[in-house]
Amino acid sequence: MQTSKLAVIIPCYNEELCIKSTSERLCEVLDDLIKKGKISAESYLYFVDDGSSDRTWQIIEDLHTQNPNRFKGLKFIKNYGNQKALIAGLEGVRTLGCDCAISIDADLQQDENAIEKFIDEFHNGNEIVLGVRNNRKTDKFLKKTTAVMFYKLMNILGVKIPMNHSDYRLVSKNALDIMGKYNETDLFLRGFFHEVGLKHTIVKFDVKPRSAGVSKFNFMSLLALALNGITSFSVVPLRIVAVLGFFMAVIAFLVGVETVFEKLVFNNSPNGIATAIILLCFFGGLQIFCLGIIGEYVGQVFREVKARPRYIPEKELA
Ligand code: UDP
Ligand code: MG
Repeated sequence: MQTSKLAVIIPCYNEELCIKSTSERLCEVLDDLIKKGKISAESYLYFVDDGSSDRTWQIIEDLHTQNPNRFKGLKFIKNYGNQKALIAGLEGVRTLGCDCAISIDADLQQDENAIEKFIDEFHNGNEIVLGVRNNRKTDKFLKKTTAVMFYKLMNILGVKIPMNHSDYRLVSKNALDIMGKYNETDLFLRGFFHEVGLKHTIVKFDVKPRSAGVSKFNFMSLLALALNGITSFSVVPLRIVAVLGFFMAVIAFLVGVETVFEKLVFNNSPNGIATAIILLCFFGGLQIFCLGIIGEYVGQVFREVKARPRYIPEKELA
């Protein structure tokens, strides 16, 4: 049987209430897999403290002092958001060394028992194993509907990420090396790991309610994530704007011809102030909407062209 060194990446933002029990539970899972000979005894947990203001980092430091081989960590100087914490985790474990890495949330909402299935699929030759949630029972109505809309929209726009895949996944060392070649500041991981084209599969898992604490996401941060996902992986919206503009121009031309025709043949002047106002508002709104779409792409270019560092680490426990 194959034995691989596994690194488990856990992004943490103000998770003082969860982190202790999470680390204990994950250690049980690792020990079980070590006993079964599926992963090596050097497998470890890698916490990324995303600029927490509570005791999160202290707890990570304590864990590291107790067992430096099992618990490692990185601390950001400020809060950069969950994607950056995940990227930092992937880069960190690549440097520290591992055969494969799994990212999981600090609140263990994603079923940790699926880790064994991830490892089995990895040993079956898959470089990427995507965790796909069985249902969204634990989500509130707004989150559920917006999430479904997001996945549908992404698929329409050509970014074929599987429905309901959160950032719970296994990636091989090879995939981490390829990620190292992507220099984008705002790398959208779900899109990236699906786009690279390595052999992949999915594993279904159940979602539990949050073990303690509150969700760190709000509507605006999810919207920002969705917009980044779209603008960094698809130019289809720009094409839609162009095509829409073309058809609008054709319609405008036809209306113009019709107006001239009416004037010449029936001597009718176009009347109807209401029609004029409606058309004015419609086209005005449409233009601003299209400009907004283009603006999102300009913003993406603006952020990327500055090539700022993705995050600034403050401390590392390796
Ligand atoms: N998280 C993070 N930085 C943030 C927000 C969240 O590292 O700015 C982490 C958080 O600690 C957790 C994971 O991302 O481990 C998922 O967050 P959360 O459980 O709050 O999101 P939800 O499950 O409600 O979508
Ligand atoms: Mg959660």
